[in-house]
Amino acid sequence: MLQQVDIATKRLADYASIAGEEAVAEIRELAAPLRGARVLHINATAYGGGVAEILQTLVPLMRDVGLDAQWQVIAGADEFFTVTKACHNGLQGMPGPLTPEMQAIWRRYNELNAARLEGEYDYIVVHDPQPAGLLRYHGAQGGRHWMWRCHIDTSHPNPAYWGFFAPYISEYEVGIFTSQQYVGPGACFKHLAIIPPTIDPLSPKNVLLPPEQARQVVARFGVDVGRPLITQVSRFDPWKDPLGVIDAYRIVKARVPGVQLALVGSMAADDPEGWYYLDKTSRHAGEDPDIHILHNFHGVGDVEVGAFQAVSDVVVQKSTREGFGLVVTEALWKGKPVIGGNVGGIPLQVVDGETGYLVDNVEQCAARMLHLLEHPGEAARLGRAAREHVRRHFLSTRHLADYLRLFQELEA
Ligand code: UDP
Repeated sequence: MLQQVDIATKRLADYASIAGEEAVAEIRELAAPLRGARVLHINATAYGGGVAEILQTLVPLMRDVGLDAQWQVIAGADEFFTVTKACHNGLQGMPGPLTPEMQAIWRRYNELNAARLEGEYDYIVVHDPQPAGLLRYHGAQGGRHWMWRCHIDTSHPNPAYWGFFAPYISEYEVGIFTSQQYVGPGACFKHLAIIPPTIDPLSPKNVLLPPEQARQVVARFGVDVGRPLITQVSRFDPWKDPLGVIDAYRIVKARVPGVQLALVGSMAADDPEGWYYLDKTSRHAGEDPDIHILHNFHGVGDVEVGAFQAVSDVVVQKSTREGFGLVVTEALWKGKPVIGGNVGGIPLQVVDGETGYLVDNVEQCAARMLHLLEHPGEAARLGRAAREHVRRHFLSTRHLADYLRLFQELEA
């Protein structure tokens, strides 16, 4: 049997005061004909990463509204996850080969996990490329509707990777993507659903701390909360462009000498690339005592990330490539206008001039940083619109409604 993930209890009713009574009532209506439906989500990991974060809320809420929802994870060893990380990058367009040996490893673990898949379900949702071969190797029996939920941008994939994966994913009845533009070349599903990710407003990262308490949390890391603060929360990764953020900060610093920069990033113990890029970022920052480079090994967990987002005067996400950017959603939810790279899922969230600003280069980024620092009234106005934008479009309740609607459509 695949490993079953323990599922917390969450109550939809608790979301009514945030998402609105109407949204909750609509969900109950959508869920009524699906009562008892057996749903299985399968992904690669129970914690760490955006997919796990989403399922930790979505699965309990599906249960609360009467579906028999389960969550299971596939088994894998280092050799498999090394290959799947390359697959993740390759499907997002990174050059490099997918050797016969890598293909054999991926197939072997998918066959092994397929043999462990047990039970009968109405809807099986397979998340991302790691377990995408389950349908092929298990066969469709046991699931009335098989869906492949892609959390990455496959619009410009490395052809070596796309050529390998396309036959596997095209076997699924349903393809679910974050944006229409992310659907890979020629991908054809009987049913295509577009469902952008969401955040849980009741998770420790997203619940607003009282301002004084948030300031205390941030001050513990050596930040002077009496001076302006610019923050980017991200893995240390070239596509997140922390070096560009430092360059933009330096331009601002020439005009606002008191400004500080926090680069907050979580380090996975098994991500050597992350350590390499952290080192590169630190060297780029040099000796500037007003640049704070922090990660989970300093004790930056969910509450701390939330506090940095809430306390900052300016939040930046200067990515040059971005699937969706949950960090953007999280910051907007805290009433912060976000200065974001005009790529991937960021423009879905950052409506230029309304919930933040979209930028294409370091100079534009610096100009917008300065503008927000010098116009706190406008920053507050954008921040209110930012929170409302997330409330309407990017809370877990909307995600739940989208899935329920999709399940119903499949029965029509
Ligand atoms: N994150 C975190 N601590 C950090 C950096 C990131 O908890 O130091 C979280 C962040 O709050 C978000 C997720 O990791 O929930 C990153 O998701 P996103 O979609 O922004 O980027 P990805 O890392 O998936 O490319």
